[in-house]
Amino acid sequence: MGEAGPWLAWTVSGCEAPVTVLRGIGVHRAAALAGVGIETVGDLLCNRPRRYLDRSCVTTVATALPGRLVTVVVRVLEARADVPPSQRFWLRGTDGSAELSCVWFQGSRYLRAAFAVGDLVAVSGRVERFQGRLQLIHPEHEWVGDPGDPVGLHTGAVVPLYAGTAALAETGLRPRAFRALMRQAVDGWAAAAVDSLDQALRARLGLTSLAEALVELHFPTQLARAEAARRRLAFDELLAYQRRLAEARRSRARHGGSPVLPPSLRLVPSWRARLPFTLTPAQESVAAEIIADLARPAPMQRLLQGDVGSGKTVVAVLAALTAVEGGSQVAIMAPTELLAAQHYDLLASWLGPLGLRLELLAGQAGREPRRLALHGLADGGVHLVVGTHALLQPEVQFARLGLVIIDEQHRFGVGQRNALYRKGGCPHLLVMTATPIPRSLALTLYGDLDLSVLTASPPGRLPVRTAVRPATRRQAIYQFVADQLRAGHRAYVVFPWIEATDETELGSVVAGADQLRGWLPGFRVGVVHGRLPPAEKAAVMRQFASGQVQVLATTTVVEVGVDVPAATVMVVEHAERFGLAQLHQLRGRVGRGDAQGYCVLVHYPAAGAGGSQGTAAAARLATLCQVNDGFALAQADLEQRGAGEFLGRRQTGGTEFRLAQLPTDRDLLEEARAEAWLEAGAARPADNLG
Ligand code: ADP
Ligand code: MG
Repeated sequence: MGEAGPWLAWTVSGCEAPVTVLRGIGVHRAAALAGVGIETVGDLLCNRPRRYLDRSCVTTVATALPGRLVTVVVRVLEARADVPPSQRFWLRGTDGSAELSCVWFQGSRYLRAAFAVGDLVAVSGRVERFQGRLQLIHPEHEWVGDPGDPVGLHTGAVVPLYAGTAALAETGLRPRAFRALMRQAVDGWAAAAVDSLDQALRARLGLTSLAEALVELHFPTQLARAEAARRRLAFDELLAYQRRLAEARRSRARHGGSPVLPPSLRLVPSWRARLPFTLTPAQESVAAEIIADLARPAPMQRLLQGDVGSGKTVVAVLAALTAVEGGSQVAIMAPTELLAAQHYDLLASWLGPLGLRLELLAGQAGREPRRLALHGLADGGVHLVVGTHALLQPEVQFARLGLVIIDEQHRFGVGQRNALYRKGGCPHLLVMTATPIPRSLALTLYGDLDLSVLTASPPGRLPVRTAVRPATRRQAIYQFVADQLRAGHRAYVVFPWIEATDETELGSVVAGADQLRGWLPGFRVGVVHGRLPPAEKAAVMRQFASGQVQVLATTTVVEVGVDVPAATVMVVEHAERFGLAQLHQLRGRVGRGDAQGYCVLVHYPAAGAGGSQGTAAAARLATLCQVNDGFALAQADLEQRGAGEFLGRRQTGGTEFRLAQLPTDRDLLEEARAEAWLEAGAARPADNLG
């Protein structure tokens, strides 16, 4: 959704010049670099090597030991290319101590042109012994002026390897050229970088100077120095991010003048009286925090975190009714059309009797209903609007927006959150997430918010029973599903893809639904996925909720928020394709009523891989059988996959750091956070996270 831009914009200050100031970078290459997020010299300097090759061991041929990575400098004695189509290239050289041969199995055309007999070259690679002679296969190579100076860019040093792309390679920025470009950038610009950390802070945190970090990140004198350099830059990055969070919170608070919304005496009590259940103590205490926030002129800036099924919606409705009674309009934003429609249906049934006007803005509504809805929002006639990011469109204007509620906040970027927020004078803000987020991520994603946690789920819930099964057990699995259906329950079957590709068996929802119809005769199978028109999606969901359809073949569009208490079975096909946190969310779709819920994770051995990979997948998935607590799972998932993957690209909201690594850098994060909030002279948000 590309909203993250400004939040990602950290770069080294003093190095804001465009990359075109560098030799060899014209419009073509600049465009290719922009494609990977590199526009300035600073961006380039922050472009972290994917890994390093330690070619610092320079030795003589005679002392090179088989199995070791070495660099030797030899004079070429003989060079030969095979006859095409073979691309093999071979050369023989000596450094006076002994002879050595080098073999490449591709690139002979380039190599033949590159090497001439008599050239002095440094070659790096792993030493092998072949037919009694020392040999390097596919060595990295570099020309050397004279035997005394092999000090290398590509050899003879710890050498960086950068993530390349086809687009970069097309402009000639292949690994060697890219490395040369980095050398130029570092040599020319590292000294120009403005180090904003004072000496005392650096000393306390054991961080190197910025200039040194920029050199050592790319061309480390020792491997360990590269990590020290990364940490220094990671701190700067985290600090910049925390400064922005502090600034965002301060500017919201500074604008002040949020509507004062006293506790509701009319709407909330009459809604509560008709609720089929009573609020849990956890819901009551979170509600009390929110009610207290709303009654103050300073804007509420609160995150409500609670595991799947913990009952966040009820709390949100309570807040919404309080706001409406206080004379404000309320906007509720959900990440998917499905969820928006579900909230709308629920609210309509609850709030219709209270005489409130509610609208839905998601996807393509009809022209006239949409016009009426927009009109009602602008003139204040509509009390509540539920929608997707369609709410962010400029045409959506409010007369008195007093409360913004964002459900499943982790699906939106920080930018989107703020965009909706800006539609009102200074509305109160409540964001909710079911993704239990480890502290380190919470402090980045939500570092500007106060936190409320729903610690317990409604009573009487049985933990979902989870099983991991290989695809070969399919018959038994669907036998079980049929039994559940016969008992009057409903089932989800989740597939990773919408349409079939040839390599996948039962991987697509379209093909899968057909097979399900065969295996579950007598039951109706509905299909929902992201490419269906919104109206059709909503219709199928309603049929599933009402029981006209008993089996829902679907993609991960049901991952968040969907609430059909009669569903007891969740089958996930190709479960190995999903992350643990995501599977936990999916599993949270069942076990929402009184009946026992079941989750079956069906895994397939990777195509072409042996059994061991299948076993690894099963072992990973087995975590879900033992752990029912979303927080513990999230931590495990984060450790297994790293932050970017964990949240998914779209969900990171600008926290795909270039250099910081969470949770590893948590110590740096805490320091950066303390520093940023100290500078801002602002009170840090209340945070009672572990
Ligand atoms: P989530 O936190 O995942 O958004 P929901 O708000 O959708 O959870 O609630 C999950 C289910 O629990 C819903 O069917 C809801 O009606 C029900 N529920 C919520 N609060 C209670 C409660 N206090 N007692 C019983 N059921 C509740
Ligand atoms: Mg929810």
